Amino acid sequence: MQLKRWLNNYVRIWGVYDMAYDESEGEGVWIYCEQEKGEIHPVSYELLNKGRELADDLNTHLTALFLTPDGSDAQELVYRGADRIYLLEHDNFNYPNEIPFRENIVKLVEDNKPEILLIGATHFGRSLAPRVAGALETGLTADCTGLKIEKGDFVQIRPAFTGNILAHISTDRCPKMSTVRYKEFDESERDTGREGEIIDIEPLEYDGPDVKILNEMIIEDINIQEAEIVVSGGKGLKDSQDFEIIEELCSTLGGTVGSSRPLVDEGWISRNHQVGYSGNRVKPNLYIACGISGAPQHLAGMKESKIIVAINTDPSAPIFDYADYGIIGDLYEVVPKLIKELREG
Ligand SMILES: Cc1cc2nc3c(=O)[nH]c(=O)nc-3n(C[C@H](O)[C@H](O)[C@H](O)COP(=O)(O)OP(=O)(O)OC[C@H]3O[C@@H](n4cnc5c(N)ncnc54)[C@H](O)[C@@H]3O)c2cc1C
Repeated sequence: MQLKRWLNNYVRIWGVYDMAYDESEGEGVWIYCEQEKGEIHPVSYELLNKGRELADDLNTHLTALFLTPDGSDAQELVYRGADRIYLLEHDNFNYPNEIPFRENIVKLVEDNKPEILLIGATHFGRSLAPRVAGALETGLTADCTGLKIEKGDFVQIRPAFTGNILAHISTDRCPKMSTVRYKEFDESERDTGREGEIIDIEPLEYDGPDVKILNEMIIEDINIQEAEIVVSGGKGLKDSQDFEIIEELCSTLGGTVGSSRPLVDEGWISRNHQVGYSGNRVKPNLYIACGISGAPQHLAGMKESKIIVAINTDPSAPIFDYADYGIIGDLYEVVPKLIKELREG
């Protein structure tokens, strides 16, 4: 590895060879399509949707990378918008060992030189993407909230300075790599009439170290990102015990409990429940914010919800600017009344 790095640096000085390549050499939009528990992760369909738009704007092809122990779902990626699938099937492609994924993706990129490579910012994607970018010696823009083509240039948009500005980033080295969080874009439509090419590729021999799982712990199996109803508590709550009021409203509605970050930092509730910029992005049909002011970092995680209800004592709280229904009042009075109303009809 040392030798490879030295050689790479040496030849770059003389301009002979480089892992990354110039824009003029890169062609095509690539999506890394992730599987989770044997199913294609829905973020892959969201990236295929955005990737299709980018590929059409660049007048180029859309390729899905599918590295999997079982390739039977590959045709689904065609139905969801890919022109071409690179299908690599091997038992080695198993979470959490990302080394075989990284090695094979790097090799595919070096052989085919795509212009753009998008990866979902899932737990696995967040670990994989920087390793791929590092090996290719190219840039990576993490957690993009927007991607577009402007005058032929690929522009990556993401919040900067804790979400107070939106940075527009463009890169001149390829592949131009971005990660995008789950639920940032809409999924592509499924069209069974679509045609595409599935190319079987023999994976590289994997002779690196194995990742050994010493212990498996399920901390809490909630998936707030999939929830249809989220009821969140914020600093308007006076005590950790008072989360019970939020939980009661939530169970009455059949939803999932969410939280603003300060309560997570206090240890009142686990990080899996945190909504916002540094937590989870949610897009439920109904989001109820109880005692939450509506800081930009919280809004970043929930403002795309279909219906937002805010309960807050302060009529000037910013959350009311985003709420479809605002209740100015004390959550300790309003929430029990709501529960009673819902139960008694
Ligand atoms: C890098 C970075 C990342 C961050 N990421 C996140 C994130 O992912 N998620 C997140 O939430 N925050 C995040 N934050 C923190 C964020 O800036 C805010 O501090 C946080 O969202 C505020 O939480 P809050 O609304 O619960 O508290 P506050 O802003 O203190 O608001 C409490 C609200 O409760 C109201 N209230 C008080 N008593 C009652 C009552 N009895 N009944 C009804 N209303 C009442 C008040 O009027 C007030 O509006 C981040 C900050 C940084 C710097």
